[in-house]
Amino acid sequence: MSDQQAYEPRKNVVVAIDGLAASGKGTVARLCAQRFGYAHLDTGLLYRAVAAKVVDRGADPADPATQDLAIAAAGGLTLMDLQRADLRDARTGAAASYVAAYGAVRAKLLDYQREFALKPPGGARGAVLDGRDIGTVVCPDADVKLFVVARPEVRAHRRCLELRGRGFEADPKQVEADLVARDERDRTRAESPMTQAADAILLDTSDLSIDASIDEASSIILRHIGADNTTA
Ligand code: C5P
Repeated sequence: MSDQQAYEPRKNVVVAIDGLAASGKGTVARLCAQRFGYAHLDTGLLYRAVAAKVVDRGADPADPATQDLAIAAAGGLTLMDLQRADLRDARTGAAASYVAAYGAVRAKLLDYQREFALKPPGGARGAVLDGRDIGTVVCPDADVKLFVVARPEVRAHRRCLELRGRGFEADPKQVEADLVARDERDRTRAESPMTQAADAILLDTSDLSIDASIDEASSIILRHIGADNTTA
């Protein structure tokens, strides 16, 4: 390989969106990707799918003895695993944060995420990835990085509305406690802990509507990438 090939810069835009559980980062990522004509990857789904596969085997993802099962599940993940209807359940989210703490699980999922960022499906001119470690570990050279937060009670309220909309019971206090506990696990784990990258821009959606959050995120993204890089 010539030097020129080895150091060829990537041609597409990469947008990294990390943040707290239920902060709105997924919605921001999906709708910004739509607005700019970019591909979107919700990386939380990968960890949720791994956890769901561990549960399928009758095992408890919170039990460290199930680590090997989680590693095997991550190694064998297929696109069909990502389409399961139960991945967005609150229980699966909590379970995901246990399997996500294992370095070997994270390592098995890394190539897929980087490949998506470097070669967005469908020939899109850009990729938006949302998760916890996109700006710090998966795509540290992303063109623009956002870290999305919102106050715990606001996040709990939004999550309750979403759960009730899907026909589930939801107690705001319990939902808030679960979100805060999950953030704590994600923030304090040894492997790729959730943290705001030094060059990430903080976006607090507590007092913003969905439309206002998307407008704010879009204008930050546009400032960094320039209008020429969008297909919208
Ligand atoms: O984003 P979502 O809430 O779907 O993520 C579920 C869990 O997956 C998170 O709580 C976190 O433990 C894990 N995760 C992660 N790294 C990512 C995305 C998600 O550790 N990039």
